[in-house]
Amino acid sequence: MKLIDLNRQGGIGANSLYLQVGGVKILVDCGLNPKTPGLGALPDLKMIKDVDLDIIIITHCHLDHIGGLPVLMRQHPKTPVLLTQSSRILIEKMLHNSANVMQKQADEEKIPGYPLFTHTEIEGLMKRFVSVPFKRLKKIKGKRGEISLMFHPSGHVAGATAVEIQTGTRSIFLTGDVLFENQRTLKGAQFPMGHFDTLIIETTRGITERAYGKERVHEIARLIDLINDTIANGGSFLLPVFALGRMQELLSVFHDARRFGRLIDCPIYAGGLGIGISELFDEVSRKTKDVQFDLRILKDLGLKKLPLKITPGRETPKKGLYIVSSGMLVERTPSYTLASGMLANPRNTIGFVGFCDPDTPGGKLLATKPGSTFHFEAVNVKAKVKARVDRFELSGHAERTELLEFAVQTKARSIVLTHGDPDARAWFKTQLKEQLPKAHVVDPIPLKSYEV
Ligand SMILES: [Zn+2]
Ligand SMILES: [Zn+2]
Repeated sequence: MKLIDLNRQGGIGANSLYLQVGGVKILVDCGLNPKTPGLGALPDLKMIKDVDLDIIIITHCHLDHIGGLPVLMRQHPKTPVLLTQSSRILIEKMLHNSANVMQKQADEEKIPGYPLFTHTEIEGLMKRFVSVPFKRLKKIKGKRGEISLMFHPSGHVAGATAVEIQTGTRSIFLTGDVLFENQRTLKGAQFPMGHFDTLIIETTRGITERAYGKERVHEIARLIDLINDTIANGGSFLLPVFALGRMQELLSVFHDARRFGRLIDCPIYAGGLGIGISELFDEVSRKTKDVQFDLRILKDLGLKKLPLKITPGRETPKKGLYIVSSGMLVERTPSYTLASGMLANPRNTIGFVGFCDPDTPGGKLLATKPGSTFHFEAVNVKAKVKARVDRFELSGHAERTELLEFAVQTKARSIVLTHGDPDARAWFKTQLKEQLPKAHVVDPIPLKSYEV
């Protein structure tokens, strides 16, 4: 099998993997790197410009996997895009939102090339999406060969899938972004056990070891206690989250907590995209049963839309619980603007619940000592870190030991590392070398071609 990682900056960034298996030419995901706005945010698509792609596969609808898809589809105007039924419901809204964000960035920052695609273009692409049910074998006839393909739920977020590919006697398994644990709204990954020849795994949490006592249930209890404390003391609580998945998960958790009298009575505000996605989650829940979510949760919680005017550096007078994107406090998002006004008030709390890249404002804030000054550069606000800043272990990615265990039991002959920072990949490399000494472990250098 031939493999090229098109994610030019490496790390997590703009995920995109070119595979050539049994003569079939496949591109898996085409993300956008949130850290480097502009044309550099895209995977390097020049490398496959003249390749006659047979199929494009989308593992799930987070922007680091789909943000560049319309550009890729423009470059390959006949190639169908395979994805799960749930992703098919979610993808359109995610792409339209991405176009909006890029338009805003183009207006405010004059980023060359933005927006990378328009709303009209997205609409024209929809007919090329082909949804494939989980656990159903699909034969793909390429121009120069044939493979069979099967999707397996990978937890993580609604519609997320791992991909199994068979050709002749050869088997390949690509995990995509994985979570083995069950969430409130979504079951954990259901992977086939046993041998694969080649394994392609994500490595997001390679340097994170879950501390004793930080299990998911305990972290949820700690989060709810801290929300109750903050509100009771006259502060506001900011939860920066991904609008897709994480927001609906937390709303469901808070809904349960309210029903059992565990969550304090306070207004809950949520961002626009998160509410739109919640409506789609309700549809996904009814049509595919992939998630457990009901729009009534929003009504029961009395969910309010964000105040229309949020001024950077100034705290909104409306106290409450704010559940808004982005999860990493990326510049010019509601969470970034709200944080710039909330940070200097010791009564407030900012609580992170997912992965935060160390180079994003969220990652930087987590690394800033209480009492020192934090600079919100994009809005030119300097604020003393007086609010409590905390992190809760509620990641959407699998524990490194669980992934390692899965990898080891496959007895794969070659293992390709993806979707992780260099340190995270290094941990997997060392462990795999020890536990599967015969396996060929590849940490692909971006844009270099490998035979695996
Ligand atoms: Zn993801
Ligand atoms: Zn990802």
